[in-house]
Amino acid sequence: METLKNYINGKWVESKEKATVNVLNPANQEILAKVPIGRETEKDVQDAVSAASAALKDWRYIPAMKRVQPLYKLKQLLEEHQEKIAELITLECGKSFAESKAEIQRGIENVETACATPTLMQSEFSENVAPGIDEFMIRQPVGVCACISPFNFPGMIPFWFLPYAIACGNSFILKPSEKVPLTMMKVFELIDQLDLPAGLINLVHGGKESVDALLDHPEVKAISFVGSTSVARYIYERGAANGKRVQAQGGAKNPVIVMPDADIEMTSKIIADSVYGCAGQRCLAASNIIAVGDQQGNIRDALVEAAKNKSTGFGMDEGIEMGPVITPASKTRIEGLIARGISEGAELLLDGRETTISGYEKGNFIKPTILENVALDGELIATEIFGPVMSLLHMEKLEEAIDFVNRNKFGNMACLFTKSGLHARTFRNMANAGNIGINIGVAAPMAQFPFSGWNDSFFGDLHGQGRHAIEFFTQTKVVIERWPSEWSRKF
Ligand code: NAD
Repeated sequence: METLKNYINGKWVESKEKATVNVLNPANQEILAKVPIGRETEKDVQDAVSAASAALKDWRYIPAMKRVQPLYKLKQLLEEHQEKIAELITLECGKSFAESKAEIQRGIENVETACATPTLMQSEFSENVAPGIDEFMIRQPVGVCACISPFNFPGMIPFWFLPYAIACGNSFILKPSEKVPLTMMKVFELIDQLDLPAGLINLVHGGKESVDALLDHPEVKAISFVGSTSVARYIYERGAANGKRVQAQGGAKNPVIVMPDADIEMTSKIIADSVYGCAGQRCLAASNIIAVGDQQGNIRDALVEAAKNKSTGFGMDEGIEMGPVITPASKTRIEGLIARGISEGAELLLDGRETTISGYEKGNFIKPTILENVALDGELIATEIFGPVMSLLHMEKLEEAIDFVNRNKFGNMACLFTKSGLHARTFRNMANAGNIGINIGVAAPMAQFPFSGWNDSFFGDLHGQGRHAIEFFTQTKVVIERWPSEWSRKF
């Protein structure tokens, strides 16, 4: 099977690295492709940075209105090829076809939002800060920007950064996850059709070696990372130590509070979609569900009902709602965490382990799982599971639940289900998380808002998407000008 090529300087080129790892379909372990990985990928990065640096020289002087024109074409191409890209996402990442199509839609929305860059880049002007003196701020590109993306949203996450970076006058290098490189290979076939200078947008494969080469290269000025917390922290520290601006989104462990006045049927369905969507492999997946007050077991029964009916299987098959988890190692790790929760005293309400799907016996499947009364001082309650597992807890009061939410070392998302405006207002004000949902299960910001995240879920200052992306991909310059009607040093 052919090894995937890099896209450097407007051409598909072989990696200098001969060693490869297999890209596998998580539903059946079929080998989909081979991707280069190893020390020689550092040379690929050098080539990509040289191409990106050269492309920058003219691009940064092209008016922003002209720079966004290829993005309109990209949106159109992504829409035309949405089904094909979605199929690739399902094949390599495992999620259902409907989820894959929705993912691409979120990517397209970022391209659309970045088309507003000429307006979003406009800046501030103060006339007459002193007699004859005006002061204004302009935004200029940062330079060569690089993005390192995770496996779980191969068709969306690169778009939190890529369209904004180039619209702001930068060049760009993408290093997709080695587990799911095919989605962006297809997207780059479309990028290849755009009227862009060679080298403006590049793709290099690999793992830690190519990432480190990007982190250490002096001509790379900005790094956007999304992935696990331990790697996010490492990227932030190494990139910042090398003088780069870094935005590094990390892992999560998302709590959801259900108040006694919440609509039980609707709430339980929304929560089940959040916990089990993408097989729980979403940084905004609900994980710890806290039922507040006396709900007489209603919420427990409704959650079990909503969870147990999720149809699990190969994402391209009709009616499948939940696909496999990404690797056999991931399945083993998740099943180990379920066992850990039980050993810490939790009761198993629904057990998704030992799942075999007919026709996909080698797939990494786990069915929806629910643990009740997970130990508050145990390991499971604080660990990102990244699989289809819900921990159900019971607490007496909203204050106690908010206190629990705020002990979380992560801070990606926190949600509340209620009919009370006062409870909602208290919660949104007090909860320590970057994305808040009120009667929402997956509080994913739309493209015009920053994809936030606090605490161990984010390292940096400016997030991806919207205005934050514009700020991240530009550096500000303040100009003070004196044009007096009479030359004098008097103010
Ligand atoms: P990961 O951290 O294993 O990998 C992410 C990227 O980093 C990949 O491209 C990988 O090649 C690279 N990488 C891995 N180890 C590295 C190392 N030691 N040094 C340098 N580079 C390295 O993450 P993943 O398993 O692909 O993705 C899942 C994680 O991403 C979860 O923790 C999830 O919560 C998180 N995530 C967060 C957000 C968010 O917005 N906060 C969004 C999506 C996913």
